[in-house]
Amino acid sequence: MTIRTDSPEATRAVAAALGEFLLPGDLVLLVGDLGAGKTAFTQGLARGLGVDGPVTSPTFTIVQEYDGRLPLTHVDVYRLERVQDLHDLGFDELVDDGRVTIVEWGDLIAQALPADHLVVRIDPGVADNERVLDLSFYGARWLGRRVSITEAFGD
Ligand code: ADP
Ligand code: MG
Repeated sequence: MTIRTDSPEATRAVAAALGEFLLPGDLVLLVGDLGAGKTAFTQGLARGLGVDGPVTSPTFTIVQEYDGRLPLTHVDVYRLERVQDLHDLGFDELVDDGRVTIVEWGDLIAQALPADHLVVRIDPGVADNERVLDLSFYGARWLGRRVSITEAFGD
């Protein structure tokens, strides 16, 4: 399904609304170029999970953890050069843990992925502040929620 936004706040609001549907153990992958809005989306998702305080992408931190209605792990794999680095990081355990995991630059880790995940692809639109968000559902865990999530976004 496709959702268009016209500001960073609108992207955060979409992500916050998605946050209502999240369950422990969920994995959300964000795909898109630098400046697409992956961190903005993560900020909204964190808000939707009731996380207090700022969500950022510091230069040298790959994994950050936050407490909310569900605990949130934010992974930015931009700087990881090899899939092996993810195993060194304990990526499988991060996802299994009963937390929500959101990964920026998720397409770089395709080989390391569990079958159940949501992909949010963010592309630029025609106008400067326009973004096109495309959600793809993979695995029974996400396909089961597809209709309710699609309806919530009025598609
Ligand atoms: P990424 O994490 O993908 O590199 P960021 O979220 O850090 O991207 O930055 C997105 C940039 O695009 C910000 O400067 C933000 O203000 C801008 N922007 C403009 N319009 C939008 C929009 N509709 N959604 C998200 N970000 C937007
Ligand atoms: Mg980012």
